[in-house]
Amino acid sequence: MLKLTVMVEPLHVLDLSLDEIVRFVEGLGERPFRGRQLFSALHNRRVRSFTEITDLPKAFRALLVERATLRTLALEARYFSTDGTRRYLFRTRDGHPVETVFIPEARRDTICFSSQAGCALACAFCLTAQLGLKRSLTAGEIVEQIICALNDVYGEAGDVPHGTNLVAMGAGEPLLALDSLLKALRIMAAPEGLHIVPRRVTVSTAGVVPRIRQLAEVKDRPHLAVSLSAPTDELRDRLMPINRRWPLAELLAACRDFQRSLRPGERLTFEYVMLSGVNDADEQARQLARLLNRHQLRAKVNLIPHNPAEPLPYRPSPDERIESFRRILEAKGIPTFVRRPRGRDIFAACGQLAARHLTEASLSS
Ligand code: SF4
Repeated sequence: MLKLTVMVEPLHVLDLSLDEIVRFVEGLGERPFRGRQLFSALHNRRVRSFTEITDLPKAFRALLVERATLRTLALEARYFSTDGTRRYLFRTRDGHPVETVFIPEARRDTICFSSQAGCALACAFCLTAQLGLKRSLTAGEIVEQIICALNDVYGEAGDVPHGTNLVAMGAGEPLLALDSLLKALRIMAAPEGLHIVPRRVTVSTAGVVPRIRQLAEVKDRPHLAVSLSAPTDELRDRLMPINRRWPLAELLAACRDFQRSLRPGERLTFEYVMLSGVNDADEQARQLARLLNRHQLRAKVNLIPHNPAEPLPYRPSPDERIESFRRILEAKGIPTFVRRPRGRDIFAACGQLAARHLTEASLSS
């Protein structure tokens, strides 16, 4: 007789909120306080294995090893930049690339994480777009990226000296992975764990209009950044195909609605990737200023010099072009900053690492 063996993936405990962990350990016959101990060991002490949690009974640790896992991402490559930035390429259990970047800063470190493996949105200036969408990441896979980066830099259980900001600007469109993202943010906000509150998190979207409105309704939501990168529909249709679905007028109307949820002193952020000879002319800066001012947005603009990457046809705007663009926006009353990309020598732009690996793999096969 033919016997079928069904492989069941072990439960990923980083997918569970504190309440869910308590219920999980109760299901294993343990008392609720064991759940709180487990959550704190996973997220506050950032242990790498269940056997290290010596404040739990040995038999319970053995049961956890049998029933669950706390690591699902395999580290495939790690790169160190001369400016201190570290980049990680992980592989999910089902074989998809996930990239994460740790950026040391004077006041707070920043970790840029991925929300999806690949991306469906096909922005013309992005290498990740060439992977297509593999799938959205789970909440546990998002949390695990942060824990692995912190452990790599500060060691397991090592104090994080000056706090951490998070940005969802790695691979993928975070608002298309909204359920996982919001759950991951709730898990990471817990004071018993990482205690990274949503105010320390910025979510960058290419412009998924209904989800922008949905995010505005979230209590204790993260900051929102919108990637614009073009001041007209004609150009944005070409650079960011999502614009054909939700053109600028609809996108900025949603931003206007989102604005009602801004906290005192908070601004919306618009990201603008500077592509030489494509979107960086003075006239385009004036068009952008008119567009933002017409919609009366309490916003700032981040100008991001493009990171050149084969096989993309774009080149970064020269510094003097970026400065001229910045001055025009400032003169029109829009606070504008130039965000120097970090880790240029290790394929700096978010999305490049996974895509580069894939390209190299397909070239060498
Ligand atoms: S820029 Fe962002 S949204 Fe656009 S294809 Fe790349 S990962 Fe996706």
